[in-house]
Amino acid sequence: MQSTHAIDPCNRPGQSIQAIDSERRFGQAISTVTQKERAAITIRALRTEIPEPETELVHQDPYELIIAVVLSAQCTDERVNKVTPALFEAYPDVYALAKAEPDEIFPFIRSISYPNNKSKHLAGLARRVVDEFGGVVPQGTKELMSLPGVGRKTAQVVASVAFSDDALPVDTHVFRVANRIGLTRNANTPLKVERQLKRLLPVEEWSEAHHLLILHGRYRCTARGPRCVDCRVLPACRYGQELQKLPAPRKDLDARRGKYYCATRRHYFDEPDVHTDRYGTPQISCPRCSSMNVFNSKTGATTKRPRDYRV
Ligand code: SF4
Repeated sequence: MQSTHAIDPCNRPGQSIQAIDSERRFGQAISTVTQKERAAITIRALRTEIPEPETELVHQDPYELIIAVVLSAQCTDERVNKVTPALFEAYPDVYALAKAEPDEIFPFIRSISYPNNKSKHLAGLARRVVDEFGGVVPQGTKELMSLPGVGRKTAQVVASVAFSDDALPVDTHVFRVANRIGLTRNANTPLKVERQLKRLLPVEEWSEAHHLLILHGRYRCTARGPRCVDCRVLPACRYGQELQKLPAPRKDLDARRGKYYCATRRHYFDEPDVHTDRYGTPQISCPRCSSMNVFNSKTGATTKRPRDYRV
């Protein structure tokens, strides 16, 4: 997709393209960026990392897509792709599925999360598509959301992928990655993230941004272990920059004297306190002075954690 973003992050007064590229190359923070510039930098960086951003759910048509998306709730695309070939062979279209009872569908999807509920949803969804929409998966988000098992995110994914509708669905990956990078502010619900992202990005980039952020979250900016060191978004990423500001690991600690070391009072201890920092993140703290300047004495690493957005 060709970018038509109005704001060129490299076109900033007083800073040349070479200077910004140089900052990126060396992983230094791009110091003064607006939210729109941060979004533009992110999308451009992710495009170079993910040249073909698209759904990983294998499907041939809107019927197969909506079934796969419903199954993918709280489950990985990889697992869904393992069960859908047999399911679609048994029920090749919505009419076939509409005739099935939930307990006939269940064996095909037993390895998926929540198979009981999803069996009921698939049977109900197919019947409703046949009865209310003439056997054709509806295109509008509102109509899609009237189907059993279809919430706002599922409806938007189907509308965007199957019908090229302008939508920016926010799943767990988009939520986490957008917040970590700093594309959003105080966005503690998927709807707030969606609204803020839509304000930052031109409408023709919404669908692409959705896929880029999902794939980035799935393979690099993972919930448990974001690989920030060589991440192309690092210069513009708030979380990545916070990580870089953490105290360097210490090599002078003696694990035999205690599990933790308080660098403020300079003593070892085993039983830490936990204090919540100003961002609401629980931090290990010193039981004597409440300092959060604490190190793991075995690894030498700081116990401080930047604000995270795992859901
Ligand atoms: S720098 Fe780290 S936190 Fe930021 S987007 Fe990259 S992997 Fe995620």
